Amino acid sequence: MNEYDSNRICDLVSTIGFKKTLVKRDADCFILNTCHIREKATEKVYHEIGRVKKDFKNLRKPLVIVSGCVAQAESQEMLKREPYIDMVVGPQSYHKIGDLILNYERKKEKINQTDFDVIKKFDELKKIPNTESKISSYITIQEGCDKFCNFCVVPYTRGPEYSRPPEQIIYEANNLVDQGTREIILLGQNVNAYNFLDNNTDYKLSLLLKDLNKIKNLKRIRFTTSHPKDMTDDLINCYKDCEKLMPILHLPVQSGSDKILRLMNRKHDKNFYLSIVKKLKNANKDIKISSDFILGYPGETKKDFQETIELIKQVNFINSYSFIYSPRPGTPAAQNKENDLLESKIRLKKLQNILEDLQLKNNQNYVSQENEVLIENKLEGQEKYFGRDKFMNPVKFEAENCKPGELVNVKITSFNKNSLFGSQKTDKVKAA
Ligand code: SF4
Repeated sequence: MNEYDSNRICDLVSTIGFKKTLVKRDADCFILNTCHIREKATEKVYHEIGRVKKDFKNLRKPLVIVSGCVAQAESQEMLKREPYIDMVVGPQSYHKIGDLILNYERKKEKINQTDFDVIKKFDELKKIPNTESKISSYITIQEGCDKFCNFCVVPYTRGPEYSRPPEQIIYEANNLVDQGTREIILLGQNVNAYNFLDNNTDYKLSLLLKDLNKIKNLKRIRFTTSHPKDMTDDLINCYKDCEKLMPILHLPVQSGSDKILRLMNRKHDKNFYLSIVKKLKNANKDIKISSDFILGYPGETKKDFQETIELIKQVNFINSYSFIYSPRPGTPAAQNKENDLLESKIRLKKLQNILEDLQLKNNQNYVSQENEVLIENKLEGQEKYFGRDKFMNPVKFEAENCKPGELVNVKITSFNKNSLFGSQKTDKVKAA
């Protein structure tokens, strides 16, 4: 989502005459768009500001703006602690960034803009075209979270759940497709909680997917990240009914232990999660599931960890992420006694080895098979292309006369744990 927000911030500041530069010292303004999910996020921002300071030591000082969730969480504190920062702008206020910069240039007074103004944000953003013209582009459709998992900062930094009006999203999608986008990834902290209420009528994610599915030159649709509790039957059935919806779902389970899920306040248990997986497989037998796992959550025992391992084997997850728990200031879990770090590291290694084995077995199954790939770009100086298959696997392959944006069939000849390799097998796939 930060990538989407960063691109939109660029679109916004372009209206007051700024453009992106890759030459650091050419910059008149630095905008550090920050994420608070990562460990030690705040300290990383101060380190980055330190590097900017050093680079501009004997030069004129650039305007320095910290935006995103760290700005939201730290707010005034950042302006106090680091005088080199001129402005902090929260993730729900960045639509005002152009006016804020102009105000700053007039008055030279520090600005703290951290309101939760999510409705106005999207009203403003719709006036400025999204100029992202990648083959695969993001669209934020939902923000915020009402789930309050005990380890997570999102409800505090992004605010309550909000769904954008569907007309705005469909307009943005059509606009991106006209610029060359062929795959759209719908984003939200709780994307499958998307529900726009219009005259007391629900317009849910399933309806949005069906409407997007009708866009002529759009070939693929994905959405991320979902909460198990919001995987309703109408949405699950989209994996049967919407041919452009790709058969992979990122559905974080976090732990296989009901005790830990309760301590995390995840609002689902293992059996509920497994029932969703079963329904998804019934809707589309090819579907694959990826997940996030938190290891060493306060109170996790060997038995709890073992239950996570068993769940991983049972579901056969691919493309998953795993982390050792680390406390986020201000969250309920941060008050708990932490687990032994060494033991957590051992568990993480074991779990990652199992995930890696599953990934390798999954990738091995593609060898000698044809795999439909959406080409994203040509590799520099080579007759090779990069793209992704339906399951998001990166594929590098040899081919002639292909263009980014085309769907091609690739015969897979080899693999490693991260990628598949092959060559174009047959004629291009007909546009969906
Ligand atoms: S559902 Fe996701 S975003 Fe919401 S609190 Fe839990 S982990 Fe954070």
